[in-house]
Amino acid sequence: MDFPILDICDDELGEAWLRKDFHPHGLHCPQCRASVKQARFFGHTQCSHVTMYRCQHCQTAYTVYTGTVFAKKQLRPAQVILLLRGICKGESTASLSRELHLAYDTVHHIRQQLHANAIRLQPDTPLPDAVTETDEMFQNAGEKRRKTQRSRRPPRRRANMQTGHGTYENDRPPIIGTVGRESGQVRLRVAKHTDRKTLKKHMARFTLPDTVANTDEWNGYNQIERQHVTVNHGEHEWARDDDGDGIREVHINTTEGMWTGTRNFLRPFRGVHKDHLSGYIAMCEHSVNLKRITPKFIAALVRCK
Ligand SMILES: [Zn+2]
Repeated sequence: MDFPILDICDDELGEAWLRKDFHPHGLHCPQCRASVKQARFFGHTQCSHVTMYRCQHCQTAYTVYTGTVFAKKQLRPAQVILLLRGICKGESTASLSRELHLAYDTVHHIRQQLHANAIRLQPDTPLPDAVTETDEMFQNAGEKRRKTQRSRRPPRRRANMQTGHGTYENDRPPIIGTVGRESGQVRLRVAKHTDRKTLKKHMARFTLPDTVANTDEWNGYNQIERQHVTVNHGEHEWARDDDGDGIREVHINTTEGMWTGTRNFLRPFRGVHKDHLSGYIAMCEHSVNLKRITPKFIAALVRCK
């Protein structure tokens, strides 16, 4: 259900928020880096109603949007904030375009730019945990909105009717996820396959060398260079006590929560093009790891490359 609140949002308060969150180190001239204190105020932009500044040193004109993906987009501060909020919270492009009176393509284009930044901002560091769990999820993701040439292509077998492990080619791209049992932090990555090479690389990149790696029995994990324990879901084994202390510590039950969160995040989009899946997954990973937005995250998310 749409719930538009744009009309009751104050653009002056919005601009103050943008100035603080887009520029946590203070608003500067994009050319010579002089502080906004050394700029002259000279009115408001026509469509977006944000303050225009002219640097007293180099005469460059700028606004709170300069250097961000919102530059020259003619959006009001309230539209920018609600759009950012919607994208961070995983609202669909169609719903956001209706609520914010924006063209679908405008929202789609801004979302793609923010998602590209979200991918760039995904942590490349290993999880700090002594115990980690890794699992794969196969997301049905075809080529949404791309017209297929029916004459050349036989009817596609529906992805969820296919058997076996999903791959990027058969429209069930795998998402490999690792969760730290103590930190609750996650590393989610879309992959082409779940073969040994891919999983070995994922584990080396996102877990510490001495971590205890819990996985299922999938043989793709056979070559990972970690202390490796597995539960055999094929044999209906879900948790096992290996050290005899009465606690069944070998399991990947924490990944179930991670996948529930991931599926819930993707659900409102009603299908995502497989080429765009990485961006949605990156936003999902940030939402788990950060819990709440910070000016540092927002500033990095909106920055123009
Ligand atoms: Zn300047």
